[in-house]
Amino acid sequence: MHGLMMDYQLTIDRIVEHANRMHPHKQISTKLPDGSMHRYSYADFYRRVKRLGNVLETLGVQPGDRVGTFGWNNYQHLEMYYAIPSAAAVIHTLNIRLSPEQLAYVVNHGGDKVVFVDGTLLPLYERAAGQITCVERYVIFNAPSGTSTSLPNVSYYEDLMAAASDDYTWKVTDERQAMGLCYTSGTTGNPKGVLYSHRSMFLHTLGENLATSLGATERDRLLAVVPMFHAMAWGTPYATLLAGAEIVLPGPHLQPPKLAELIAEERITIAAGVPTIWMGMYQDLKANPRDVSCIRALVVGGSAMPRALIEAYEKELGVNVVHAWGMTEMSPLGTLSKLQSHHDNLPDHERWDVKARQGYVVPGVEMRIVNDAGRVLDWDGSSVGEVQVRGPWIAKAYYRLEPTEEHFTADGWFRTGDVASITPDGYLQITDRTKDLVKSGGEWISSVELENALMAHPKVAEAAVIAVPDERWSERPCAVVVLAPNAGEVTGAELIEFIAPKFAKFWLPDTVIFVDEIPKTSVGKFDKKVLRVRHAEGALG
Ligand code: AMP
Repeated sequence: MHGLMMDYQLTIDRIVEHANRMHPHKQISTKLPDGSMHRYSYADFYRRVKRLGNVLETLGVQPGDRVGTFGWNNYQHLEMYYAIPSAAAVIHTLNIRLSPEQLAYVVNHGGDKVVFVDGTLLPLYERAAGQITCVERYVIFNAPSGTSTSLPNVSYYEDLMAAASDDYTWKVTDERQAMGLCYTSGTTGNPKGVLYSHRSMFLHTLGENLATSLGATERDRLLAVVPMFHAMAWGTPYATLLAGAEIVLPGPHLQPPKLAELIAEERITIAAGVPTIWMGMYQDLKANPRDVSCIRALVVGGSAMPRALIEAYEKELGVNVVHAWGMTEMSPLGTLSKLQSHHDNLPDHERWDVKARQGYVVPGVEMRIVNDAGRVLDWDGSSVGEVQVRGPWIAKAYYRLEPTEEHFTADGWFRTGDVASITPDGYLQITDRTKDLVKSGGEWISSVELENALMAHPKVAEAAVIAVPDERWSERPCAVVVLAPNAGEVTGAELIEFIAPKFAKFWLPDTVIFVDEIPKTSVGKFDKKVLRVRHAEGALG
């Protein structure tokens, strides 16, 4: 139609162009493995992103190719966040906490052509390398050139960068091209990929920078504790640069005293991480007080932030907590809980009640709750149903999988697998989840996989794994086991030792409870709801 607006492409290169033009002197700071700080300006960053564009070309990366990254949060990883999509390729952030089998699966399923591996994580990656078939070249970063590795076809990041020119023309042309790939846990079977487009990530970035949302500005200094291998570090690498906010990356230094020190020294105003991180830091701050009142928003999501911890941060440390909810499939931001004007006169304890909810939906995303019969429920604060969402940064399918009704409704909504009510003023309150997973320290554990492994033990008849609340990790897996007839004496430790070789260590249940029978639903499945209630009541033994 004549007279319409420009057909302007919302692509990631536009963000770094804007950042360089508007805020060339702003800083990007990284805590290096040796504890020293690496700092450079947006302008330096911009030139290095362009240089990396040329490096990708030298490596034979073509538009649409997937390029893996296996690293901590640091400036080189940030360069990849911009250069790979701007070269019209797809950045596939690999989760360093996966077991070797899962890691090999996601690299192979993603079909990654080149993988950038953090030199400090080589032993972790090398364990999976034998099962990886698609990678043609590895690039080692964050380590000296020549760092030894058993990986084949290796180059060193800084050598390639030194040899490249920073004269480069961005390759991406179409906002509907893929820019990022991130895998999330499957309840059963393999992890599932979520493929972001330039458009979806650009709009997500704008959504995140709204004043009612995270609302970073050029006055902010944001500490991204949330890993760059997890749900695109919640979009913070893009939101900061578009806003002109300074970004601080902790590298591998995620221990509570190190984070507290970093916040105090770097005068951080926004810090983003999972509850486990902030629980650890709170305890450390109680023992070793430091002034962290520079924080204007302690952003926390990935698991429910306990109300008591929100209260403690605010009352004892003067730190404002912003509780947020989202998913890898949602880019990830869905809701966040900030107070609104109608909360102004509430007493403190009621304000903390509000802030402990997952919050209101970010403009751009639509949300509804639906019961088992498919009826859309009222926002009355008590009706409970599955949360469904739709919007420009919500997945409509998993990568290389046909969308099924299990995840995507026929009328175009994504089924989150979270169960919640919504208050009349629009605040989401998650109460449960339908997906059979445990979330420990921000990372998923599949209960079903643990159950299958336990039930492979000859002395086990049935095993159900449930998530139980844990102060430090948010949740931990607990195994409930029925022994086979004539099994004789069996200990929990024996069962854990039996399954240990198959899983990452943090997957292993902390407790094994032996029972005579596992309650079942009407269709004969383990009734985990009943098990969870019995566990909470101390009735499981
Ligand atoms: P992920 O894709 O790994 O980020 O996990 C997303 C899932 O984590 C959601 O579907 C929820 O089950 C859970 N989650 C994320 N944020 C919160 C929160 N603030 N409160 C409770 N659960 C959360």
